[in-house]
Amino acid sequence: MNAVDASEHYESVATEPAPSLLAIVLDVNPHAWALLEDQLPFSKALANLLVFINAHLAFNYTNEVAVVASHSQRAAWLYPTHSQQQKTSTNRQDADGDIEMNGQEAHNIHSSRTSTQNNMYRPFRVVEEQVLENVRELLASTDASDVSATSTMLAGALTLALSHINRRTMTWTETHGNSSVDTANAATGSSSAAAVSGGNVSLGLQSRILIVSVSSSTDSAHQYIPIMNSIFACQRLHIPIDVCKLSGDAVFLQQASDATRGVYMSLTEPRGLLQYLMMAFLPDQRSRKHLVLPSRVDVDFRAACFCHRRVVNIGFVCSICLSIFCEPPENGDCLTCGTHLEIGDYGARPAVLGKKKKKKKARLNGSSATATPTPTATPG
Ligand SMILES: [Zn+2]
Ligand SMILES: [Zn+2]
Repeated sequence: MNAVDASEHYESVATEPAPSLLAIVLDVNPHAWALLEDQLPFSKALANLLVFINAHLAFNYTNEVAVVASHSQRAAWLYPTHSQQQKTSTNRQDADGDIEMNGQEAHNIHSSRTSTQNNMYRPFRVVEEQVLENVRELLASTDASDVSATSTMLAGALTLALSHINRRTMTWTETHGNSSVDTANAATGSSSAAAVSGGNVSLGLQSRILIVSVSSSTDSAHQYIPIMNSIFACQRLHIPIDVCKLSGDAVFLQQASDATRGVYMSLTEPRGLLQYLMMAFLPDQRSRKHLVLPSRVDVDFRAACFCHRRVVNIGFVCSICLSIFCEPPENGDCLTCGTHLEIGDYGARPAVLGKKKKKKKARLNGSSATATPTPTATPG
């Protein structure tokens, strides 16, 4: 019997595990949610998300959560509420006649729970109150003209989440020091990375980002550059980006989870949102090394051109700044860095050409402006 030893799951170090910060980017585009209404109403999704947040907070009393709304026109904090927002919300409270407009169900959930709130675990209550209040606030301040837009401010929301994570990490490191053995061990799946960074930064407080996305992919093409820059920042800081895609499929989000070793799930059955959240997205980095995670094999690595923000299969890359263009820029001047590129007689290409010859032509011009499939790097 001694041979049977199931003690592998014990932490090797008996010290208290480092807390985990979960930053959630919630896509609240009303248009996209309206399309999903039959399968999963927004209020139900929000209720599911709150249960998920509570589960995360229950894991460890030092665990933290942050929720950012990626709205159609702007990105906004849902939790924690920042002081400026708090002021406006108290001012607006009197003229708060818009509650019904933003979904009776969400309001019902809120009002039915106020009676039991006194018995509620305080951290749960604080998050729930603030998130619901801020969502109501955000939707009330949305004009009909904004709703028609199908875009979502994902880049802004990602940046907000990243800056919050950065701030919390610095605060945590200041108060707890940075040479904890436990945190060094907890660097899941990136032990080499821990060695590279010397285990001195960002390993104390473990952070991850979860994007709950409902908008379609083509709308985010115009935000390609800031989104990719956020992804590279996460990659550098070893912050996994988990993606829970409720409808459609997003090009850049696949790349985000792939580059940062996060979980990517495109839900076939959005009604089971809570189940997906609990099963696939709840484990933190430390738990994940024991699990086989749902990851995406066929990642769409396409990029968007810098000139029209179109998703392109084949583009032209500036040899100086690595900007991507769908066609050679006018006069051969790069639109980003202004460098004059020697494109040669590219424009003189005959209209009818075999595929083989086309490739040859591109290669001849290769020294300065080359036709390459899907480059990955963007300028800083
Ligand atoms: Zn273009
Ligand atoms: Zn350039």
